[in-house]
Amino acid sequence: MVEVKNLVKRYGDKLAVNNVSFTVNEGEILGFLGPNGAGKSTTMNIITGYLSSTSGTVTIDGCEILDDPKGAKSKIGYLPEIPPLYQDMTVKRYLEFVYDLKRVTLPKQEHLAEVCKVTKITDVYNRVIKNLSKGYRQRVGFAQALVGNPPVIILDEPTVGLDPKQIIEMRNLIRGLGKKHTVILSSHVLSEIQAVCDRIVVINNGQLVADESTEEITTNFTGYKRIQLHIDGSENVILPALRAVDDVSRVRKVMRTIDGYGEYIVESRAEKDVRKGIFNAMAKADCPIVMMRNAEMSLEDAFLKITSGEPVKTKGGRK
Ligand code: ADP
Ligand code: MG
Repeated sequence: MVEVKNLVKRYGDKLAVNNVSFTVNEGEILGFLGPNGAGKSTTMNIITGYLSSTSGTVTIDGCEILDDPKGAKSKIGYLPEIPPLYQDMTVKRYLEFVYDLKRVTLPKQEHLAEVCKVTKITDVYNRVIKNLSKGYRQRVGFAQALVGNPPVIILDEPTVGLDPKQIIEMRNLIRGLGKKHTVILSSHVLSEIQAVCDRIVVINNGQLVADESTEEITTNFTGYKRIQLHIDGSENVILPALRAVDDVSRVRKVMRTIDGYGEYIVESRAEKDVRKGIFNAMAKADCPIVMMRNAEMSLEDAFLKITSGEPVKTKGGRK
């Protein structure tokens, strides 16, 4: 549905996007994740035709953005980082303006009513935009992107500045979109992306560093798994004994104690099972294990590993 190929963008000497390629399939919600300054907005502005690339191609549903900018743009709804709202207009006036600008042919009042219903702004339809709360204004921006019912929706950091309740509402809206639209959603917040996306593309310093499903990214990119343990006994005995277990790569004691027991995190390669080894070692050291469970590597951990430039092992996900 969306194909980005070898995209490069230079601002003078600054290489903001460095040979980025990825595709988004129909109906997919793709997370575009990266720290501030990674090149997310630049890439999105190129995909939506607001900015020209230095080189590379973007194809939207078969339309190349440079060969057929009108065709490509008509297939995209875009909510930029700073929504292009006319503060002095009412929501109604503004959405009608967008409707005319996009030369939409769907029945006007019905279509706009539907868009307002989906984005939950019906109750402020006749209010002036500048008097609305940030959450409502963001949803008006969202509504603007949906006008004309484009098959591809691109959202640049849509939850920045919203409060937790508004974030949840926004997430639900995005999830709902995924049923009928192809969505690209950018964020520098991992949990944001994890909550709604099927697949994640990670960009850092203008370069693509990961392209995996949300589940895959955790294990594949860290290559490690974790076990959480509560153990009775002295850490001077427990730590060396855990570290001596075959295939254990890292052991760390958590500062807090649980019911008087020490908490430990053991890391091993994803394909190794160190649980029996741990059990035997602790039995031998006379340090009873009172709790043992798999603790998922969080996506936050994976993300930090990826963007810190530590070598990561992938199953061929890198393109
Ligand atoms: P993100 O959206 O991931 O935070 P951006 O795409 O906004 O990142 O920016 C990527 C890099 O390009 C940053 O280093 C930023 O400072 C730089 N940049 C963005 N816009 C311009 C511009 N108009 N002129 C020069 N440098 C820019
Ligand atoms: Mg940005």
